[in-house]
Amino acid sequence: MLEKNLFTLIPKVDDLLGKENIINLLNTMPRNMVLDSIREETELIREKIKNKIQEDEIIGDIQRIETNIIKNAELKSSYKLKRVVNATGVVVHTNLGRSVINEKIMENINEVVTHYSNLEYDLTKGIRGSRYSHLEEIITKCTGAEAAMIVNNNAAAVLLVLNTIAKDREVIVSRGELIEIGGSFRVPDVMTQSGACLVEVGTTNKTHLFDYENAVNESTAALLKVHTSNYRILGFTSSVSANELVELKQKYNVPIIEDLGSGVLLDLSKYGLEYEPTVQDSIKNGVDIVTFSGDKLLGGPQAGIIVGKREYIESMKKNPLTRAFRVDKFTIAALEGTLKYYLDEDSAVREIPTIRMLTDSLDLLENKALKLKSYIDNIDIDYFDSTIEDDYSEVGGGSLPLEKIPTKCLVLSLYDKSVQRFEEYLREFSIPIIARLYKDRVYFDLRTIEEDELSIVVEGIKFALEELKECNL
Ligand SMILES: *Cc1c(COP(=O)(O)O)cnc(C)c1O
Repeated sequence: MLEKNLFTLIPKVDDLLGKENIINLLNTMPRNMVLDSIREETELIREKIKNKIQEDEIIGDIQRIETNIIKNAELKSSYKLKRVVNATGVVVHTNLGRSVINEKIMENINEVVTHYSNLEYDLTKGIRGSRYSHLEEIITKCTGAEAAMIVNNNAAAVLLVLNTIAKDREVIVSRGELIEIGGSFRVPDVMTQSGACLVEVGTTNKTHLFDYENAVNESTAALLKVHTSNYRILGFTSSVSANELVELKQKYNVPIIEDLGSGVLLDLSKYGLEYEPTVQDSIKNGVDIVTFSGDKLLGGPQAGIIVGKREYIESMKKNPLTRAFRVDKFTIAALEGTLKYYLDEDSAVREIPTIRMLTDSLDLLENKALKLKSYIDNIDIDYFDSTIEDDYSEVGGGSLPLEKIPTKCLVLSLYDKSVQRFEEYLREFSIPIIARLYKDRVYFDLRTIEEDELSIVVEGIKFALEELKECNL
């Protein structure tokens, strides 16, 4: 058909506005939004005609224009930040929101944020209170520290600690611990921002106690230990533990700061994972100030938790930066709910989704995989195959980088269809499904797929397979 004739087949905007489907749409969303969708979809067809795309694809687009307009408008009006299914097996997935909060604590969060609260009000005295007071008792109980406070994230915590303790003075750090965490958190840069002067000691692979000792002078404000959470140096190595640094603290009267990164409160080695130093251990060993994240292995909301000696915590509360880093009531409520589970180890393992997923047994995962496979095999489409395979999940979030946790995956392969397009369609599903593409097959790791998400995964796979069928790809 001539290009000119193809253009005449595109429905007019006014005609589209008179269609029943579109009228229904106008009843549920703003007219301008619908008009934008109509213009975008008709423009898309015009571009395809101009670019001499195959005629039957263009005719198909014209036939489906109403459906495409509705899809386009629905996408426009949907929330931009929304729920997804994490089928990657990376438990603490920074791109997917890190830690999942237990639904049971939402009840209290909901109660607090949809009403007034005692956020900064002392109910006993009837006067202004502190937003940090709600958490201090439970954090000190869980960690054994004297005092505690929280800020927006661990990056802010490290900055605040260094700025309070070491501004215009020196902080000694091992060269093996000058880490970079994703999202450009680099220890030397944070140090510069804080106004502290970095004194590097030792070498990349070896640092000894005498390296620290030789660097101590009257300008030394602190010794800093940074947990190398997202990498390991292997081979001919040695580093000085916080435990050993305590010797110098007593001799020279300089405080020890430790950035633990993940900050676990449970000994995960009991559950078959690699030992990750706990906050309690650092405090017991005599570290003066410990910082860690709220949403990594702790399994709570995004937050930076600072624990340690009262004199330091009190001076941090007075630092003007604290106002800039202060947490919202959402965070406080979510963190209090999460920490309550830690008062009893069994409840922490059962009720905190991050910890539960990391410790779920292979049997349990295999059961979920079998269930998922039986639903999938019932789908009445014949160009795919499914198997259950052994694989490895990861902790993620820059924690336990070497840990490979055995898991079970449902693996899909397609015949004569594009597996890349299939994976794209999974992400376009109303609840997007984020799966792993590896060697032309799609992996769904059951460790991070909750039991009640199995039906969503089935619907998403069905949706993607059907879209693929329509596309003839
Ligand atoms: C993750 C991490 C940080 C940054 O923590 P956020 O909570 O993401 O800001 C800082 N230090 C270490 C060692 C970390 O592992």
